[in-house]
Amino acid sequence: MAGNITFTMVKPDAVEANNIGPILAKINQGGFRILAMKYLRLTPEQAGQFYAVHKERPFYGELVSYMSSGPIVAAVLQKDNAVADYRKLIGATDPTKAEEGTIRKLFAKSIAANAVHGSDSDENANIEADFFFSKLERF
Ligand code: UDP
Ligand code: MG
Repeated sequence: MAGNITFTMVKPDAVEANNIGPILAKINQGGFRILAMKYLRLTPEQAGQFYAVHKERPFYGELVSYMSSGPIVAAVLQKDNAVADYRKLIGATDPTKAEEGTIRKLFAKSIAANAVHGSDSDENANIEADFFFSKLERF
């Protein structure tokens, strides 16, 4: 199954703006199947653990408090070449640099509040999916 899953979150800004539905529609239109999904709010400790790879970056504290500021939708998505194709669908981290039609171009508010997360490698997709979902929660 390597290479065919990625992990995403609809981040607090997009949930707050009532964009869960439009973002899920873009995901389905992009050819991704939803393998697992949940709606929850991360504690600051959980957000810090999820983003531990960015611990040394200057934006880490802001990122952790932002990602625990409200509910998120977490999901595992399935498609051939899922990681790269999903990064393409969401667009650049900074929405001002994201291509037209991408999820971040359409829905992100700023480089921090950028609407969605997308895994950056097959290895991290599996680590991130395992952080949120048990085997019983994947279909
Ligand atoms: N981020 C930020 N400021 C920056 C870069 C990133 O607040 O200068 C936040 C943003 O929410 C981003 C997350 O940290 O999505 C993780 O950063 P990464 O470089 O992994 O970007 P991504 O993989 O999400 O495009
Ligand atoms: Mg990243």
